[in-house]
Amino acid sequence: MARYQIAVMPGDGIGPDVIHEGVRALRAACDRFPSIDLELETLPAGAGEYLLNGKPLPDSTVERARAADAVLLGAMGLPEVRWPDGTEMAPQVELRFKLDLYAGIRPVKWFPGVPPVLAGKKPKDVDLVVVRESTEGLFASLGAGVVLRNEVAVDQQVITRIGTERVCRAAFEWARRRSAQRGKPGHVTCVDKANIFRSMAFFRQVFNEVAENYPDIGRGYEYVDACAMKLVRQPERFDVLVAENMFGDILSDLAPALAGGLGIAPSADIGDDAAVFQPTHGTAPDIAGRGIANPLATILSAAMMCDWLGDRRQDPDLSAAGRLILGAVESGLAAGSLLGPDLGGERTTSQIGDEVVRLLEAGVADQGIGSKQSASQ
Ligand code: ATP
Repeated sequence: MARYQIAVMPGDGIGPDVIHEGVRALRAACDRFPSIDLELETLPAGAGEYLLNGKPLPDSTVERARAADAVLLGAMGLPEVRWPDGTEMAPQVELRFKLDLYAGIRPVKWFPGVPPVLAGKKPKDVDLVVVRESTEGLFASLGAGVVLRNEVAVDQQVITRIGTERVCRAAFEWARRRSAQRGKPGHVTCVDKANIFRSMAFFRQVFNEVAENYPDIGRGYEYVDACAMKLVRQPERFDVLVAENMFGDILSDLAPALAGGLGIAPSADIGDDAAVFQPTHGTAPDIAGRGIANPLATILSAAMMCDWLGDRRQDPDLSAAGRLILGAVESGLAAGSLLGPDLGGERTTSQIGDEVVRLLEAGVADQGIGSKQSASQ
């Protein structure tokens, strides 16, 4: 019996709704394997928690998250709950610093059945991963920017050798893994603004140094502005992209739009000792409380969690549970039974969750258990 302690942080806005469905899917998949013993603990964090107890990320929550095998997170922050300096609460970003989650992995893949987003563009060309550095860059200034005399505002960009080396290594490792699973050569694109900023030229220099250790993986370079255009026009030319925090943040909202939008975009924030899995989207205040948030991004994040943890603990059953979730989502989307309003359908959050659980219980994706495709692709 393999025991897994999963910390669950629903958070704010649509977070609790999508987490509810993510947890149901996770349980339904893991219940298929008697060897898996899943212990879930719900932890408080978010703007709502700040309103209740004065801290968006309580110390006890960080400690419990640190002790857990992995964290499944909804979304955090509310536009109306701000610090005195006007910035929003972002405990999910603070958590990345506290747990040293330096690699934000955002797979973007089109699933058959998802309506095309761009007119005239075949979405099946989209199959890439954005790897976002998640502990430095401009976000290193979180809570530390200054406004001088009400005239000048300064946030500083921080790029370190160690931070760049480790995120670039993560990108090349991810490319190698994808290459083995897809049977195609791997490639990593360094996205920067090395023509203008010294910090970015340094990022590219370190990228090149790391790339020397991966002669089997191709490499390329894009300036972030041109990259944004090429992602829209020719997404098929990209495999893995690696970028500093802010550029990665922007590209990892842009790229999912090519494959159906934020409602089906999962993500993982991974460090050496911990990992948090959460949808790429935020708290979506415009649709919060309406029961129409798409939970698939969270459900797919739960699949990534099974894949990562299964790999880490050498547990083929947990990896297979991840593939079952992925398979259920794939078959439901192909059959048109998982389309919420964001994908042109009418299914509510709970109806989508019900259908994923039904598909998992019916075993529709069981034939995928033996497939090599992981739930993190
Ligand atoms: P953050 O800054 O935390 O990323 P945000 O407010 O910029 O948050 P999101 O909360 O991600 O952005 O929302 C962006 C848009 O995408 C909104 O119009 C929102 O309704 C939509 N959206 C986000 N998540 C979902 C979802 N799960 N289902 C449907 N629509 C969503």
